[in-house]
Amino acid sequence: MRLTVLGSGSRGNALLVESDGEALLVDAGFSVKDLARRADAAGVSLARVRAIALTHEHGDHARGAVRAAQTWGVPLAASAGTLSALQRALPAQVERLPLPASRTVSVGAFRLTAFPTAHDAADPVVLVVEDGGGRRLGVAYDVGSPTAALAHACRDLDALVIEANHDEVLLRSSAYPPSVRARIAGRAGHLSNTQAAALAAQVHHAALGLVVLAHLSDQCNRPDLALAAMERALRPRGFRGRLVVAAQDEPTPALEVGATPDQLALPLGGGR
Ligand SMILES: [Zn+2]
Ligand SMILES: [Zn+2]
Repeated sequence: MRLTVLGSGSRGNALLVESDGEALLVDAGFSVKDLARRADAAGVSLARVRAIALTHEHGDHARGAVRAAQTWGVPLAASAGTLSALQRALPAQVERLPLPASRTVSVGAFRLTAFPTAHDAADPVVLVVEDGGGRRLGVAYDVGSPTAALAHACRDLDALVIEANHDEVLLRSSAYPPSVRARIAGRAGHLSNTQAAALAAQVHHAALGLVVLAHLSDQCNRPDLALAAMERALRPRGFRGRLVVAAQDEPTPALEVGATPDQLALPLGGGR
């Protein structure tokens, strides 16, 4: 299984998972045109996308989803609450594929499981994508707070894409009004670098070979701070895999999911 983050941040999120000649788009927070431009830049094809799976309905995750599903003739897979939040924008001909909480649904070569999270959207979820070879990727954007349920959702993964939204010090000193700062740091907001790192350390196991730090705030975070927090938490646990920071404007390279640490030529950084 291969993973390419087409872009990640408060201005849009989308990633492409490929396995066995098929692909799945997780979140579509860019226009159809922008998705195509980003896929081109990354050297990946959207022609084999079998479905678009959504973590939640916020614009930075779903902006292009309805149009893309319509244009490509593929189903939208999401929790019941996310689908009903999009209902009004959703033409009848777009197939809905509801993802019931914690139950696995097959889409082409992929198996999808949605786990509810605490973010302030209708029915937000962490998505776990598994391919025919049993490789498991977890996508945890906009998860609110580091709960036991979140750690449960992120267990036994080969790769984890996790939001490392803000650095606590930069958030406190940012120009955001206090109410916005409180929302971001609150239970239904976003994970800080420290929270993301603690969660990754908690779910670390021998097969975890890739961690992608995503959804970094451009005002309240820096890639080096996010990376340093993750390194400090993961390396003492024996993590020998790859750490990548996803950027807003540039896709990551295609990243192998399920590579053993010894197959990784470059253990640190990359994709920044
Ligand atoms: Zn959100
Ligand atoms: Zn978001």
